[in-house]
Amino acid sequence: MAIEGLTEEQIQAAAESVQVHKFGGSSLADAFCYRRVARIVTEYAGASDVVVVSAAGDTTNRILAILRASQQAGDTATILLDQLESFQQGLISELLSGELEQQLLALSKEDFARFRRFVAGEETITGDAELLSYGELWSARLLAALLRKQGTRAEHIDARDFLRAEDAPEPIIQEPESRAELLRRVAPFPGTRFIVTGFIARGLNNESLTLGRNGSDYSATLVGSLLNVKQVTIWKDVAGVYSADPRKIERVVSLPSLDWAEAEELARLGSPVLHPRTFQPVNRERMVISVRSSLKVENQQTRIGQFEHTEPRGKVFTSLSEVVLFKVELNDKALVDKLNELDLEPLFAWTEPENHQQYLVFHQNHLEYISRWLEQIDVGNTVTQIRGYSMVALVGNRIQETDQYTTFKLQLGEQKVRRFGLGENGNSAIAILEQQLDSRLLNRLHSQLFNYRRSLGVLVLGRGNIGTAWLELFKQQRDRINQMMDVRVIGIANSKRLWLDYSGVELSDWTSNFDRLARPYVLTELLRELPNAPYDELVILDLTDAKPVAQLYPSLFANGLHIISANKRAGSAEESLYREIRTIQHEYKREWLYNTTVGAGLPLNYAINDLRGQGDEIRSISGIFSGTMSWLFENFNAETKFSDLVAEAKQRGYSEPDPREDLSCQDLVRKLLILAREIGLNLDWEDINVNSLVPEHLQNISAEQFMQRLNELDEPMDAMLQEAAKDGKVPRLLASFSVTDEKRVKAQIGIEYIPEGDMLANLIPGENIFVIYTDWYSEMPLVISGPGAGKHVTAGGVQSDLNQLLARLSAAT
Ligand code: ASP
Ligand code: MG
Repeated sequence: MAIEGLTEEQIQAAAESVQVHKFGGSSLADAFCYRRVARIVTEYAGASDVVVVSAAGDTTNRILAILRASQQAGDTATILLDQLESFQQGLISELLSGELEQQLLALSKEDFARFRRFVAGEETITGDAELLSYGELWSARLLAALLRKQGTRAEHIDARDFLRAEDAPEPIIQEPESRAELLRRVAPFPGTRFIVTGFIARGLNNESLTLGRNGSDYSATLVGSLLNVKQVTIWKDVAGVYSADPRKIERVVSLPSLDWAEAEELARLGSPVLHPRTFQPVNRERMVISVRSSLKVENQQTRIGQFEHTEPRGKVFTSLSEVVLFKVELNDKALVDKLNELDLEPLFAWTEPENHQQYLVFHQNHLEYISRWLEQIDVGNTVTQIRGYSMVALVGNRIQETDQYTTFKLQLGEQKVRRFGLGENGNSAIAILEQQLDSRLLNRLHSQLFNYRRSLGVLVLGRGNIGTAWLELFKQQRDRINQMMDVRVIGIANSKRLWLDYSGVELSDWTSNFDRLARPYVLTELLRELPNAPYDELVILDLTDAKPVAQLYPSLFANGLHIISANKRAGSAEESLYREIRTIQHEYKREWLYNTTVGAGLPLNYAINDLRGQGDEIRSISGIFSGTMSWLFENFNAETKFSDLVAEAKQRGYSEPDPREDLSCQDLVRKLLILAREIGLNLDWEDINVNSLVPEHLQNISAEQFMQRLNELDEPMDAMLQEAAKDGKVPRLLASFSVTDEKRVKAQIGIEYIPEGDMLANLIPGENIFVIYTDWYSEMPLVISGPGAGKHVTAGGVQSDLNQLLARLSAAT
């Protein structure tokens, strides 16, 4: 098509040798960014290429704020204006020098003088677009000047000088006229890079227009189409289009290619990758849009175009946290007809003939538009609006033929799916959910769909002996563990302070980091926040001895956490709490492992579960389950005083700070309860017959007084020793339970006299022993013995639980 003043060769040359590049506001956020963009423009753009730019940083937002403030009393508008002026002129001064700098500063000052006249009410400017246009104008002018300063031939063009459009909610471009004007400005000057303002155009009455927020992507393909170029490159601060929004999802991968239909479906479903109008002007057979990183130019880019062979494959997982359902009664014929005229396509729609209803799902942002439309139409209105829904979708060609489609459907089964179906062109699977989305759900779905190594976030509660030893162990084991899953410690806490870092806390010097970075926290509040942690699964290691933490187990499970406990308080809680914990755990399908709560690292629970898994039945378990008691009694004889031993145990840290905790056998009661419950027996505190070693008159005094009056224990203890010795026996503190044939449980804890040669009488002080009788081990018991306490064996036991958890979680996918 002939254009006055240009030869056909010039027009052809522009189409063949020119490419278009686009840089958004965040690529031009400061002087450093400008320099980077200038380098890309010189190195990666051809000598005659056109570069479309947005306003620098958040300039558009700042101008909007000034416009708003100018309507109100006070000097806010002036203050904002001062800030914007110093930002813009700061960029000029930092990037330019000499005459060029003076020139641009003078122009900038003129522009800001106009803003000031407007704010002061001395100049009327109708429409926001006129002032908004300055944002793009400033960046085009500055980038062109910077390029010239660096010796690259460059000029800027105000798009309003060529781009003509009719004002409408989506401005209608006057193509022939705009093309002729653009070509006249560009085609005669091969060897000059032109920097063009994005976002803006000129209306038929000569007024400024904008193309809508983030409209520069659209400007870029528009300019490309007018010149009929083959390629438009959109430079972003991320490397192309990813398998999901990298701001919401961890471990996304960037895609080598997307075809037009896929890209369009993504935009239609509200994915923020590109402005939805970007594809409108494109000649699909000719043009390719390349999305590329300006921060890492060497990274893969995504090419959007028309490709010969497209395999069926799910490419992008996208979501909307809030969508609105409109329910329409099908009997309402007039309304149903009218809806065909609505110039807004629903995200998803379906009919339920059995209920005579149709459902339309819209983006939350369109709610206002539709409500207004509904008010205006003159048909009786039976539309019901339903809130509280969200959408997740998987976009890709021939999606139904992929394995991912099946996975998607299957994995959503656990969610509250209102409707699942295919998008109109068969290149998306869409689910409307009657629930909120949280980051963990999205991450899990994404990793299941794209088959990535899944991730587990670990929160460590309690940073005492065991916590410290486990963190050390984890550091050494990390590489091996990470082969199964991406496991990271995301938080370490004591009862008051928490150090949380979702990307994983640095473990090399964690104690001093903890001192520096830990903040006061409240566990119940943290729970509400945790679902946002970007992990497929979360586990809390309860290494405390705190009852309040145990009371929170139901909430922990309900908030999606798995639990590994060294804390005995939950497993041995009173029956009512224990039931609640178990119920919620099953309801939310969470794992709970607590192998170290009995016998520390000894493989007791593995043995029990393994036997039961084989079909054997446990008949009784008895033995010495307390390291403290073992130590005290194995050392006790006619030459020693029991009170001295207690004092020594306390001093060496073998006992609880108040030794009565051990002597009253509370610790043993807990272990017995945990064991009995582990094999499915109903047992509560009052079912256990306990003979405490603390006489009544020493029970209700302070811990200090008790330590002073320790020798009052000696008389009854000596008497016991002598009585046992009469039959050649020694006293030992035993715990036991047995199951009767009627499935009743007998449990008791107390002193028993044991023949001197018996193995129970000959343990190493501190050693635990568990004697297990089953249907099959009925003549000779299965015996497990060894240290039942200590930080290394316990930390090892916690690690064993973690391994077990990883195995179960991997099996579950
Ligand atoms: N500067 C405009 C905006 O912020 C256009 C763009 O960035 O694409 O919306
Ligand atoms: Mg922008």
